[in-house]
Amino acid sequence: METQQLKHSYSRAVYSGLVTFFLLFFITQFLNYKIYQKSEEEEYQRTVNESISITSRLQSSLNYSLSATKSLAFLIQENGVPDNFEFIAEGLLQANQYIDAIQLVQGGVITNVFPIEGNESVIGYDILADTLVNREAFEAIEKRELYFAGPINLRQGGVAVIGRLPIFIDDDFFGFSAVIIKIPTLLEAAGINLNSSSYDYMLSKINRNTEVEEFFISTSDFEIDADVVKSNILVGEWTLYVKPELPNTIFNSLPFAILGFLFSLIGAVFIWYVSKQPIELKHLVEEKSNQILQQERKYRALLENGTDGIVVLNAEGNPVYVTPSVEHILGYSKEEAFNLNLFELMHPDDVEKIQGIMMKVLESPGIPIKGFPGRTKHKNGTWRYLDATITNMIHDPSIGGIVDNFRDVTDRVQAENAKEYERQNKEALINSTQDLIWSVATDFRLITANEAFLQNLKDYTGNELKPGDDLIMAGKYPIDFLEFWSKLYKRALDGESFQQVVYIPPIDGATESWADISFSPIIIDSKIEGIACYSRDITEVKLSEIALQKAFKEKNEILESIGDGFYAVDKTWKVTYWNYHAENLLQRKREEMIGANLWDKFPETVKLSFYQHYQAALSTGLVSHFEEYFPPLSAWFEVSAYPSSNGLAVYFKDVTERKQTEKQLQELNEDLIRQAKELEISNKELEQFAYVASHDLQEPLRMITGFLTLIEKKYNEILDERGKKYIYFAIDGAKRMRQIILDLLEFSRLSNSDEEIELVDLQDIMNEVLVLNRKTISENRARIKFENLPKLRAVRVSMLQLFQNLVNNGLKYKREGVQPTVSINAKEIGDFWQFSVNDNGIGIDKNYFDRIFVIFQRLNRKEEYSGTGMGLAICKKVIEGMGGRIWVESEKGIGSTFYFTLPKTT
Ligand code: ADP
Repeated sequence: METQQLKHSYSRAVYSGLVTFFLLFFITQFLNYKIYQKSEEEEYQRTVNESISITSRLQSSLNYSLSATKSLAFLIQENGVPDNFEFIAEGLLQANQYIDAIQLVQGGVITNVFPIEGNESVIGYDILADTLVNREAFEAIEKRELYFAGPINLRQGGVAVIGRLPIFIDDDFFGFSAVIIKIPTLLEAAGINLNSSSYDYMLSKINRNTEVEEFFISTSDFEIDADVVKSNILVGEWTLYVKPELPNTIFNSLPFAILGFLFSLIGAVFIWYVSKQPIELKHLVEEKSNQILQQERKYRALLENGTDGIVVLNAEGNPVYVTPSVEHILGYSKEEAFNLNLFELMHPDDVEKIQGIMMKVLESPGIPIKGFPGRTKHKNGTWRYLDATITNMIHDPSIGGIVDNFRDVTDRVQAENAKEYERQNKEALINSTQDLIWSVATDFRLITANEAFLQNLKDYTGNELKPGDDLIMAGKYPIDFLEFWSKLYKRALDGESFQQVVYIPPIDGATESWADISFSPIIIDSKIEGIACYSRDITEVKLSEIALQKAFKEKNEILESIGDGFYAVDKTWKVTYWNYHAENLLQRKREEMIGANLWDKFPETVKLSFYQHYQAALSTGLVSHFEEYFPPLSAWFEVSAYPSSNGLAVYFKDVTERKQTEKQLQELNEDLIRQAKELEISNKELEQFAYVASHDLQEPLRMITGFLTLIEKKYNEILDERGKKYIYFAIDGAKRMRQIILDLLEFSRLSNSDEEIELVDLQDIMNEVLVLNRKTISENRARIKFENLPKLRAVRVSMLQLFQNLVNNGLKYKREGVQPTVSINAKEIGDFWQFSVNDNGIGIDKNYFDRIFVIFQRLNRKEEYSGTGMGLAICKKVIEGMGGRIWVESEKGIGSTFYFTLPKTT
């Protein structure tokens, strides 16, 4: 509607402009036309004047010619043809400045001409005979008047008019007196200036012969039009045309016409401009009013519905004005809001801060004080974050209160909190690893990094890095290391994602390390903005790799250095390794063997057990050890074939020598077994003999002892002291012999014994030993210590003999003045019990450690220590019979310990 009106108003302005234009244009052009008409009239008048003046001048100049011809004619009529024609002619020419030459024509023939120079050719020319021009001549003769012929091309050159006056003598035609006027002369006489810029001229004459109008002077492209003034010249029947060269009128009126047009245009524009001003003004006023209206609506909407609220508090702090939007923001109606205490709505944690701000507000009247996003309780109990700007306007009478302008920024704060939470989460995430995470800007400056990265750099360089710092810290690192890093970063900045193991050299006493680092360009809006880097310390892996390589190298060196031959084959029997000793032992060069098939190189071995052993190792995956004779080299090899996932590793050595020794040994062994068998038989026989002998010897010995005892009793009185002494010696000898025989019997019985093996408790055995030695123990106040002795499967009597003999010796070979102590202990060693029987007696010289176990071997005199030298021999026999062994450790004067072992399973 409005625009319609506006359009209408605008078209009215345009219409006014147009009307003004046409009106002004009409007036100016009308005036111009009038001016033009006037000037045209004046112009015409001027041209007429010019025409009259020329015509009259021409007329008078032609009259000169008439008088000249008439003078000549008179002379001839009076005196005939004069002799002094030249003289007369010259006189005539001098008197008539506008005549160029004078002719005398007799009959029709030109007879005289003055001046003659240049005109010689016309002499003799018969003008009456020339049918092209003679008509006028005949007319002149008829009329007896001067006539002008021409313009004609002169025979002597140039264009001229010729005035001819017929001469009659006595009424007879005599000839003509003629004047020649060249056109320039004629023009000069007429005062026609062909170079004049004011007028154009034209002369014409009807050719009497042809009746055609011939034009003979003309300024360029003369056109006969309305401007031309035409006048007839009676003398020569010429017509003169004159017209202004350029009509001034046009030039005079044109600028005015243009000015008029411009004036009209300016006037029209002015009127258009002036008439549209009020419209625009109106429009502007409407527009501004609209804007103000809309703004007002907007602000009202904002105040009422927006997230901004305004509360004005009076000096007492009570709300005096509340915008409707407060209900929207905090849920309280306007009425409720008036009764609220704002501080009570604040979050307890924020109250103190708000009070501080309020203090500042009160101290600074008129200055808006920015608050902070504090929490205020919504009517529904939730907390809303309000960002307030508070201005103390108490001094302003139009407000008279404190203006609290606040905005609900809960969403923003929550979003920020969420963002912060997310940021902290991300930070925690990147900090939860010991791996290094960082990002680099395009200028190699640090964007962000996890703690591990910062700590690592600090440990490494001593520098505390922060975002924005240059990562390529010249001076700290070796220069080639920096260049290396620059190159890595540049690669990523060129758009490549890659992983790279980087060696970090030791600096400032730090240890060297390796890291597996991945570089990825950070692309934002398809532009590379930086690099994301992730580094994992692989030093340990790297070191073990190096160690592995070293070990591998060492293994190779070992494989080369071991005395054994070594080679390896893959599953297709292709040789992959062949060491130096293999070269020597099998007499094949490494170059020849590597890559070749083992069986191709040793076809003969396929028939031997080598082939089966290797096949078995490969198929079962079990190590195969074997010895085999290799006829081509006449050698024995001891071979170990170790299967692996790749194939087979074979160690071997030449055991030909050992084999030979073994063979000899075996032969020797066989001999030995045979001898042992023989020995066993003879031993058995010997033991049999000893048993029989000791058994049988007891009878005569008993007789000897019995009879000697009888002799001692019966002949006591008659026997002197010496005799008694002898008998005593004999009985004692017999007693000892008996003991020897008993021991011998015991000893020999051991190997023959077929006594039953049972579980024997050695604690019981020892208790029996205590009973057996009761007397000796009490006499010597000896101590016997034993505990936790095991149970064994054995022949009970043999055990009793063993422990009895050892304990008895311990008590027997006591040191003078020392209380004898014997300790018996047992401990497990593998499958055996190891026993020890220790005493604090006289000890044994270590030279006799072996000898004491031999039968009848005694170190002490029988007078000092009784005994037969059989005890330890019996012990040894019992122990060895059970698969154990016995030895002694002793120091003279300190004591002895007898050790022996017995198998547990026995
Ligand atoms: P004997 O009947 O003489 O004791 P043994 O065969 O028991 O015979 O011992 C051989 C010899 O070993 C003994 O004569 C003695 O000299 C020495 N002998 C054995 N046991 C001990 C011991 N506990 N302390 C010192 N010497 C010992």
